[in-house]
Amino acid sequence: MLYRRFPKIPELEISALGYGLMRLPTMAGDPSRIDEAKAETAFLAAVDEGVNYFDSAYVYHDQKSEPFAGAVVERHGLRDKVLLATKCPVWLVKERADWERLLNEQLARLRTDRIDFYLLHSLDAGRWETVRKLGGIEFLEKAKRDGRIGHFGFSFHDSLPVFKQIVDGYDGWEFCQVQYNYIDTAFQAGSEGIAYAAARQIGTIVMEPLRGGALARVPEGVKSIFAEFGKPRMAAEWALRFALERQEVATVLSGMGSERELRENAAVASSARPNSMTRKELDLIERAAAFYRERMPVPCTTCGYCMPCPHGVIIPEVFAMYNAAVAFEVKEDRSAWYKKAYAGQGKGADSCAACAACGECLPKCPQSIRIIEKLAEAHAYLMN
Ligand code: SF4
Ligand code: SF4
Repeated sequence: MLYRRFPKIPELEISALGYGLMRLPTMAGDPSRIDEAKAETAFLAAVDEGVNYFDSAYVYHDQKSEPFAGAVVERHGLRDKVLLATKCPVWLVKERADWERLLNEQLARLRTDRIDFYLLHSLDAGRWETVRKLGGIEFLEKAKRDGRIGHFGFSFHDSLPVFKQIVDGYDGWEFCQVQYNYIDTAFQAGSEGIAYAAARQIGTIVMEPLRGGALARVPEGVKSIFAEFGKPRMAAEWALRFALERQEVATVLSGMGSERELRENAAVASSARPNSMTRKELDLIERAAAFYRERMPVPCTTCGYCMPCPHGVIIPEVFAMYNAAVAFEVKEDRSAWYKKAYAGQGKGADSCAACAACGECLPKCPQSIRIIEKLAEAHAYLMN
């Protein structure tokens, strides 16, 4: 395993591969029922491979991920070998006392008196407002002073301008966690966001390097592009190497569901050094990305310039879901997410509940997308 460091935390070596504890093996596909025997085997294999960064969150696996990690670490006496990261569910913070209550609950679940890396989970413009209004930063600073938190940062899901606003909103961030893979170089924070953070000494943790697993199962067209490399290489390896290519990235998280996946990914992270890919490799990856983009029904770059929508529609997210559903052939998954988290809640494109066809977004789109029409198309596709 290769190890990297965050610029502001030079004393800690972090494994280039981190274990994302959000897609552990489960029983009968039920996320709330972790298959503990299999998950424990994979966890221990990760430690054996030299992985030392384990990333959980309050909400993962229906709140079972943290207790699982805590139990495995305690049972095998691993506390000194692993760096535990977890995330505060900012959306559950309704008053100042909630920060304290949640952190203490998480410490108990993880069976530890110190969380090495604590993140504000999934910050967007609204949650950043909550953090500012309810004293979130003051609380984090206090918890770091009293030793319950080692270091803190945030994970992010919103547009690049909001990312910059959060980075600039506080000098003390030590790291950030963003979605990044060879398709999403300009999605949310993207390449520009990673460089922006690095210029301020904020290291990056990459999540979704395989885009939820989609980049591990590529279609024939992409397989034939990668075949031009001349040496056999699995699709997942291409994606992991791409994420590890960046110097600014300290660790790449993968939600490995089996020991086999873990061993394969660890082998990649043991040889992928920053800035080591050849021009030919990068060109092949760019062509694979173009292959997917050509299949996307909306030419949205998720730049976020159309935002905010006065009626609450999260335009780039709706288009991203629609594009992924079509290009990656994961309609079932994206439709389920859209129905659960967007439609009927003012975030989706339901013609009555959200998009009022006011037209305010139209002149702001550099791609000249017919947003109203495309939102209706996306909504119809994802709801059926
Ligand atoms: S046209 Fe629809 S999506 Fe665009 S700003 Fe108006 S309500 Fe929002
Ligand atoms: S719809 Fe246009 S402005 Fe909005 S995120 Fe997509 S490309 Fe950017």
